[in-house]
Amino acid sequence: MIDELTQTINIDQEKISLNWERGPMAMPTERLEELVAWGRASRTVGYVFRPSTVDDLRAVFGLAEASGRTVTFRAGGNSYGDAGANGENIILSVTRMNRILEWYPQTGRITVEPGVTLQQLWEYILGDGWWIPIATGTMKTTVGGCAAMNTHGKNGWQAGTFGDHVESFELLLPSGELITCDRQQNRDIFHAAIGGFGMLGCFTRLTMQMKRVYSGLIQVETYVTRNLAETMSYFEAHVAEYDYFVGWLDAMVRGRAVGRADIHKARHLAPGEDPMPAQTLRLENQRLPANVMGIIPNSLIWRFQRPFWNDFGMYFVNMAKYWAARWHNHNSYRQPHALFHFLLDYFDWDKPFGPGGLIQYQPFIPVANAEAAFGEIFRHCHKRGLPNYLSVLKRHRPDPFLISYGVDGYSMAMDFRITARNRPRVVQMTRELDEIVLKYGGRFYLAKDSTLRPAIAAAYLGDETIARFTALKQRLDPDCLLESNLWRRLFKDGGSG
Ligand SMILES: Cc1cc2nc3c(=O)[nH]c(=O)nc-3n(C[C@H](O)[C@H](O)[C@H](O)COP(=O)(O)OP(=O)(O)OC[C@H]3O[C@@H](n4cnc5c(N)ncnc54)[C@H](O)[C@@H]3O)c2cc1C
Repeated sequence: MIDELTQTINIDQEKISLNWERGPMAMPTERLEELVAWGRASRTVGYVFRPSTVDDLRAVFGLAEASGRTVTFRAGGNSYGDAGANGENIILSVTRMNRILEWYPQTGRITVEPGVTLQQLWEYILGDGWWIPIATGTMKTTVGGCAAMNTHGKNGWQAGTFGDHVESFELLLPSGELITCDRQQNRDIFHAAIGGFGMLGCFTRLTMQMKRVYSGLIQVETYVTRNLAETMSYFEAHVAEYDYFVGWLDAMVRGRAVGRADIHKARHLAPGEDPMPAQTLRLENQRLPANVMGIIPNSLIWRFQRPFWNDFGMYFVNMAKYWAARWHNHNSYRQPHALFHFLLDYFDWDKPFGPGGLIQYQPFIPVANAEAAFGEIFRHCHKRGLPNYLSVLKRHRPDPFLISYGVDGYSMAMDFRITARNRPRVVQMTRELDEIVLKYGGRFYLAKDSTLRPAIAAAYLGDETIARFTALKQRLDPDCLLESNLWRRLFKDGGSG
């Protein structure tokens, strides 16, 4: 059965029959694995290979050609939708290519293999007084996966995206050729492979610049707003004063209070502000607590959250979070970097959503239209009876990469619960939201997407950008060895797949 969300095969819903015999060479069935999108709203099966060297990667490319299959790379598997899925075809998991190759603690420059996770990275460099320049909400993402999606952090308006901190990389092309790309050499490929969702080649080695820090702690302040208008104007007035800025919005409440927010602002400490930097930079002072209130293991928390993860319960969860934040308004405290950045790793965030999982919808809207657009989106979700359970607001800036979601404006990441009953309604609603986003000049982020259609991708990226990307792909991958469900859904032959 073809799933409505991602057009991938949904093996838990209906029996599937795979077309094993495709090319002259049969695929080893022991390689078949079920692959679940991070949001668990879609699943596929594919032949999974886990190479540990560039030669191993080349061998899998050869096998793909001989067997008439296509290849998708997969790393941490943290994309919410189908970016790392390739139904009935080959999945090249790069997680074993996870060595740190060179580290220069004087300059903060590091060279790594693509499967190195952000966790590995910060744990390796922090003791020398460095931190990762762009941190995603989970530290389980990899350097290759972050470059391929050009991820952002809570500092997008001033630090840009992941790609802005990549100095160079080696890319393995489907032909087996290994090329070096930076801002001078293969400049066009550099700007297209970053954000190119693995469709041009495999990153095999990346060099990046890390960020200098003078403490293992970060100074955090909180501020609570009463509605969306106040949230947006507070962001705009104060964002430049901090290194990080993020708002947790209540989109469950109806009426004028919708969009009220618990805002967290943070800045790095200047030299001398931390009296004991050597101590706070130590790894043992960064670890996320393993238990809540010293009793309940984090791994079990989702069982307590689960009964509240419905429209009724989440109304009260959002309300409780808001009033708790108001109670602590204007709070100011120091917190370890890991705790500030990777709050979502504290729990199994996907599990409370239940067996149908969740999808995330994250539009990016220019400053001038952001308040109107998000207000309309929230009201539309209420009208359809499908409110989003968690809404996170961030500030961004444009970036120089070809497939870009960047705007001088804001993004709102919204989590929608998926159930067997509401699935078609959520899909239909996201299509209506797409029209609102386009009306306000917005863009979309492929790492979070599950429902976009080719016409919408063409509308926000522009036909010329898509033509440039497909021409480059034709040059680097003439036999179309690299494909993913995402590519087929949005771009291949105009999205017809
Ligand atoms: C809890 C949570 C919080 C998140 N927070 C944020 C956030 O704050 N900001 C943000 O921007 N994103 C965020 N994300 C999304 C996530 O950062 C991206 O989806 C990221 O790309 C995932 O990295 P990964 O290593 O898991 O890659 P995967 O999801 O496995 O793969 C992502 C893409 O990269 C390609 N790829 C992987 N490795 C390579 C390689 N070596 N060469 C070429 N292509 C490759 C894959 O083909 C795929 O298209 C979050 C996700 C989760 C689950």
